Amino acid sequence: MDYQKIIHQIAEEAKKELGKGKIANYIPALANIPSDKFGIAIETIKGERYSFGDYDEPFSIQSISKVFTLMMAFTKENTKLWQRVDVEPSGNPFNSLVQLEFEAGIPRNPFINAGALVVTDILLDHYASPKASILDYVRRLSGSDDVYFDYEVAASEREFGYTNTALVNFLKSHKNIHNHIDKVLDVYFHQCSIRMSCQQLAHAFLTLANHGVHPDTKEQILSRSQAKRINAIMLTCGFYDQAGEFAFCVGMPGKSGVGGGIVAVIPEELAIAVWSPELNEHGNSKAGISVLEQFTTLTGLSIF
Ligand code: GLN
Repeated sequence: MDYQKIIHQIAEEAKKELGKGKIANYIPALANIPSDKFGIAIETIKGERYSFGDYDEPFSIQSISKVFTLMMAFTKENTKLWQRVDVEPSGNPFNSLVQLEFEAGIPRNPFINAGALVVTDILLDHYASPKASILDYVRRLSGSDDVYFDYEVAASEREFGYTNTALVNFLKSHKNIHNHIDKVLDVYFHQCSIRMSCQQLAHAFLTLANHGVHPDTKEQILSRSQAKRINAIMLTCGFYDQAGEFAFCVGMPGKSGVGGGIVAVIPEELAIAVWSPELNEHGNSKAGISVLEQFTTLTGLSIF
């Protein structure tokens, strides 16, 4: 398959979406990103790489970090993890408070903010320096030491993080947060602030496309079953209240972030990362979704 030719073709079409979405501005430090940034990176299990545009430029991965922290917590807790966070699609916005009240402090899934805060709390139980451990883990998966926190973005989110503060307090009142809420928020805002390029993200997600085996080191990072389960959660919950539409139109497990990034995988085949900062009303990259929709249409690839 000539992926390079396909992504050039796709990029031209997807760029028509530019100017139609909105950059996330509830985190002020994210609002300054030029809206025409646009990158695509594909990496196959065999190690072939294809790229387009700003594929090499780091951006704020935001909620994509929830996949990495879930992988870490799942490794530590295994199935015990599901006592504290469920695996059902939420059908609600990523920062919804309402559902959490109905469900007595057990978040619907690990990819909405409430669920990710519980996962982060679990990491605080297992790691003495969770921020450093998260960064190490992401560097290991992406095969690159050139992965950092963006302290300005983390501080900006802390300053305006009223909803996340409400969520963590509510979880704490239901005893589903064990550590001090300030510590949980600090780690959470830093994990969201991690900057990575499309190329680094595609490489990092290859482990999930490869049954949990790191493509370079051949290390079993997750068991085959754990990798399968994380892909299942990405498919059903990776795009919040647009997860159904994403499965319907794209047909790949994936995860988005309000920095405008999306990463998705075809197990046993490849990982693809896209970056375009303008978002739709669900908080997912508008052009990014267009890229992935065309990608599976033109290649015929899909998990279905
Ligand atoms: N850091 C963001 C938040 O907590 C992440 C949200 C997202 O990427 N969907 O609001």
